[in-house]
Amino acid sequence: MNIMIRLAIQSKGRLNEESLRLLKDSGINVDDSRRKFLGQASDFPLELLYLRDDDIPGVVADGSADMGIVGLNEVEESGVDVEIACHLGFGKCRLSLAVPKSVEYEGLEWFEGKSIATSYPSILSRFLKERGISAQIRKIMGSVEIAPAAGIADSIFDIVSSGGTLVSNGLKEVERVLDSEAVLICRRDLPEDRKFIRESILFRFGSVQESRGKKYVLMNIPTAKVPDAMSLLPSMRSPTVMPLALEGWSSLHSVVDDASLWDTVEGLKRIGAEGILILNVDKVID
Ligand code: ATP
Ligand code: MG
Repeated sequence: MNIMIRLAIQSKGRLNEESLRLLKDSGINVDDSRRKFLGQASDFPLELLYLRDDDIPGVVADGSADMGIVGLNEVEESGVDVEIACHLGFGKCRLSLAVPKSVEYEGLEWFEGKSIATSYPSILSRFLKERGISAQIRKIMGSVEIAPAAGIADSIFDIVSSGGTLVSNGLKEVERVLDSEAVLICRRDLPEDRKFIRESILFRFGSVQESRGKKYVLMNIPTAKVPDAMSLLPSMRSPTVMPLALEGWSSLHSVVDDASLWDTVEGLKRIGAEGILILNVDKVID
């Protein structure tokens, strides 16, 4: 039998598209056209298992799948023992406590004796227990944010990303409990002969993540200004400088973070850079 890794991903929902994109950018292509519950990569020893996100930590813990891509919130809620192999940088959100905006909230004691609606009862009860608060946890599976207005609970514990949903339901966030993002998880007892595949996936995912949010910048600059330019460019090692045929001018190449791209480019322009080209970075291999 061929040695293969079985990776569980969300079948549909917020993490599905990004999970497939990460695989594709890593050169792992799964025919998605006739999607069943299992898919086979054409060019990598990997099989995809499509599941509800809630079920992913459990199947990885019991070895029905070897690895999984799922929100850290689901891993924490399930309470199972799996290895968090790496953070993936998408699906960012947080789990927070929120109360009606009219409440004069001064601290966690407010929750003493109150009811809290949530889809994450395990994380919440652990959090409250650690802080010595006793509250009544009401488990509901959807539309948690309407619970206070509907008289189901005094407050909620739910996923927040921008906070817009809270505001439109007359709520305010008062305690941030868990920061979450998609993570790659792995079963603890991964068979020895599959470990090289796990390493290859980690290496590829790492390279893809490293390249995201980066641009390759090249420009012409008076050679006398190269030291000034270098101080503006925190490149991976150091910028590449090459002489131009034109006396007194150099070509400078560097990798720049998207976040600081415009500040950097404006700075370079100010010290005399010309013909600035900004290119996408496809992969970064360290
Ligand atoms: P499933 O049908 O697979 O059970 P779901 O409805 O439980 O899906 P989704 O809403 O698709 O879950 O969200 C999946 C994950 O995406 C969440 O568990 C969380 O980790 C992450 N996430 C990121 N931002 C948000 C957000 N604004 N709201 C909800 N989840 C978010
Ligand atoms: Mg779910």
